[in-house]
Amino acid sequence: TPRSSAELIRAEEPVLAHNYHPLPVVVAHAEGVWVEDVEGCRYLDMLAGYSALNFGHRHPALIEAAHRQLDQVTLTSRAFHNDRLAGFAEGLAQLTGLDMVLPMNTGAEAVESGIKVARKWAYEVKGVPADRATIVVAGGNFHGRTTTIVSFSDDPTARDGFGPFTPGFRVVPYNDLAALEAAVDETTAAVLIEPIQGEAGVVIPDDGYLTGVRELTRRAGCLFIADEIQSGLGRTGTTLAVDHESVRPDVLLLGKALGGGIVPVSAVVACREVLGVLRPGEHGSTFGGNPLSAAVGSAVVDLLATGEFQRRAAELGEVLGSGLAALTGKGITGYRARGLWAGVDVDPAIGTGREISERLMREGVLVKDTHGSTIRLAPPLTITQEELESALASLAKVLA
Ligand code: PLP
Repeated sequence: TPRSSAELIRAEEPVLAHNYHPLPVVVAHAEGVWVEDVEGCRYLDMLAGYSALNFGHRHPALIEAAHRQLDQVTLTSRAFHNDRLAGFAEGLAQLTGLDMVLPMNTGAEAVESGIKVARKWAYEVKGVPADRATIVVAGGNFHGRTTTIVSFSDDPTARDGFGPFTPGFRVVPYNDLAALEAAVDETTAAVLIEPIQGEAGVVIPDDGYLTGVRELTRRAGCLFIADEIQSGLGRTGTTLAVDHESVRPDVLLLGKALGGGIVPVSAVVACREVLGVLRPGEHGSTFGGNPLSAAVGSAVVDLLATGEFQRRAAELGEVLGSGLAALTGKGITGYRARGLWAGVDVDPAIGTGREISERLMREGVLVKDTHGSTIRLAPPLTITQEELESALASLAKVLA
């Protein structure tokens, strides 16, 4: 007999590592912006897999691409070529305006790969003395969970107990060009930042910051690496968050939505001078660039090439923004929003982010809290205006 949600949650306890604290909902089925639990209750998904589900659950074009590829070939390893990879790389290079692609799987792997490539570029092209390269990052960053990446996190929960840490990183305050300028020197391989800091609570830098980072890194002769794993691929109303300032980084890190919510697909996308430093045997991944991932990734690129999702995110972002403006002072103390992405600071007198998330769950809306009293809204870009308005009405109700 099938187990109930409560039984399944209890069954996880002794056998699953406790590195997450999920809301008590057990999803069994999903389509578009809706998920359904084991008991058949429906919820509006306002998290969208931390933006891995920008096109919604099981988008027909992506499912079709995956099905078609499942019947052809799913894995070759890079020991051989596969007939899907060239098209994926061509499409992604064209979409982003950069030259070359290094396909990986998870976001953290793309970040690690970007760090490796930047260091190699620093030694071979810039001429930094061996093992002296530094990378400047921002306070409040979130780039993933590997030992090197947590080495430059300033979140004690992410770091404590996981040392010793990887050297070679300098942390400066986010959104502070003077601090960045002071930290960059002749050893600097790259400046690595999120154009909008997602996990920090959708923290949006001042206008001109990204342009400033671009100018500063160009002047200093170091690379600008933009981690758009969460901010990219339509979320903010443009293909990339850096597009809001018409800035082109040297290295772009993509993941999450690149796999269409079906398979893990990430990539380092960069100019030829940078990715050109890698030679056979120096870096790799058994699954990176596999034909199933490349087929789904190509279908994602095709969806974005229409511009439809970016347009929806921009238009519905206006609805989201005005809905949140109306709630300011009525349960929320502030918010930051761009496109279909918002960090909402709940009045602590009303409840923690977790408590608000639980109340919203009982109203049939799924969100995720971050950092105490902040909740994050990031619905699939396929959401309708009516659905978005109903989610905002539920938020107003639980705050009242
Ligand atoms: N970089 C950013 C900006 C992210 O938001 C995340 C995940 O939330 C990552 C990297 C890590 O991605 P993954 O969880 O796929 O390793």
